[in-house]
Amino acid sequence: MTEMAKGKVYLVGAGPGDPELLTVKAQRLIARAAVILHDDLVPPAILALAAPQAEVASVGKRYGAKGASQPEINARMIESARRGLEVVRLKGGDPGIFGRLAEEIDALETAGVPFEVVPGITAGIAAAASLGVSLTDRRKAARVVVVTNHQAPSEQGSQSTDWHGLIRDDSTLVIYMPGHDFANLRDELLAAGCAPDMPAAIVSRASAPDQRYCFTIVGELAKLPRMDSPAVLLIGRSLDRAHRRSSAEAALALDEADLILSSP
Ligand code: SAH
Repeated sequence: MTEMAKGKVYLVGAGPGDPELLTVKAQRLIARAAVILHDDLVPPAILALAAPQAEVASVGKRYGAKGASQPEINARMIESARRGLEVVRLKGGDPGIFGRLAEEIDALETAGVPFEVVPGITAGIAAAASLGVSLTDRRKAARVVVVTNHQAPSEQGSQSTDWHGLIRDDSTLVIYMPGHDFANLRDELLAAGCAPDMPAAIVSRASAPDQRYCFTIVGELAKLPRMDSPAVLLIGRSLDRAHRRSSAEAALALDEADLILSSP
């Protein structure tokens, strides 16, 4: 028989980075948790909301750094809950989007530990908001496809994403972990039938003070400047208006620069 757990694990989304984009529930749980196990994507300003006596530990493993393994994270959550503690497992964005939530739920269920999932604002949603873009549009975008350009080798045999059927003229594609090889991505998207003039935008560090973005079209993806991680790539006709707005602003900035240069 599994040991009865007294504590509880909250699998909490921390949002894209801006502490103001935390849910009220996440904020409350962070403030009262005895143990916080967080990913690297969670910024210090959010961890600062923890109680002074809380045990706050990074279990992130980004950029190939040696962090805790998934079994180690699971064991730590279970062990703390069995000591009767409230544990917050804090993940960037929403825990259910490319966050290995399913594996953690499996482990908690198998161990008989009570848990609750608390959603967060995922990076793609935050990126669209910061560009002033609606991911669906009754006129142009009937669906949103959330996808990654990176497959964990252990799970998927490291094959690349199959874009056929994903890239359609009436879809907005939100690509997590887009990598940096945009020449290859452009070739794959075009081979899957994407129009070369399809608008695209990359948003780096969405919602953070140093957020940056850049618009382009799929045919010119390879010309995108290299942006800091984390970044998401948005692709679709729903970006049309924002793309035009951004080009107009850039042209205006150029005109102003000309004026300054040409003034005596
Ligand atoms: N659970 C997270 C995603 C984890 S996968 C979420 O819902 O947002 C990690 C990837 O998320 C990064 O490689 C990047 O593609 C994206 N990402 C996370 N935070 C981001 C941010 N603030 N701005 C842009 N992309 C971000």
